[in-house]
Amino acid sequence: MKYNRILLKLSGEALMGDQAYGIDPNRLQQYALEIKKVKETGVEIAIVIGGGNIFRGVQAEKSGMDRVQGDYMGMLATVINGMALQSVLEQTGMYTRLMSGFKIEQVCEPFIRRRAVRHLEKGRVVIFGAGIGNPYFTTDSTASLRAIEIEADVVLKGTRVDGVYSADPEKDPTAKRFSTITFTEVYQKKLNVMDMTAFTLCQENNLPIIVFDMNKPGNLLNLVNGQEVGTLIN
Ligand code: UDP
Repeated sequence: MKYNRILLKLSGEALMGDQAYGIDPNRLQQYALEIKKVKETGVEIAIVIGGGNIFRGVQAEKSGMDRVQGDYMGMLATVINGMALQSVLEQTGMYTRLMSGFKIEQVCEPFIRRRAVRHLEKGRVVIFGAGIGNPYFTTDSTASLRAIEIEADVVLKGTRVDGVYSADPEKDPTAKRFSTITFTEVYQKKLNVMDMTAFTLCQENNLPIIVFDMNKPGNLLNLVNGQEVGTLIN
């Protein structure tokens, strides 16, 4: 295996599948099977899950609500997704722990770095819910921060696009996909990989990011096996 410990970032929107809102149970099931294939190789897996399928802080602001309040609602949305994912992963036969960025003791453990690492060493899939627990951040930033904290080898950003393109491939047919690209090039070309906070954290800590298509069966396993899948940023 190319990596020993990975941090997989799944967006909330990915969980919607073809629905307009919420969680598509088929999509969740499909992700669980993909994750299991990797788990069976012995690779340690941590997951950060987003909440955009349910609620985003900026949405609240647009409708006249308090931004901070909205951000906490967004963080709660990630906990709902985390609980759904946890449940499906366990049904698929994996041991899991859901750790939260703020206290919700009845449903998750609080995030304690040493404990998270211990869970990983014991073969449990660790899901990080509630973001980092602070408003004005995103779950992409959470993915970068947690990956650094637990000393993951790589951040795997699972999306519905198969990598980073020179332009939006859904709008521009001449858009070209990069197989590898440097952090500096991403800045210079103003490509949209993650928000700047998340991106800078990875760059400053020499943590590579791979953007790949999570919806293509086998992709996650192939990637962890060292095959060239998606776009590697380093
Ligand atoms: N959020 C936050 N702090 C965090 C992580 C998330 O305030 O550390 C809030 C923020 O409002 C965000 C929402 O939770 O919009 C859902 O997360 P995100 O938009 O990153 O989810 P994704 O786009 O991955 O579905």
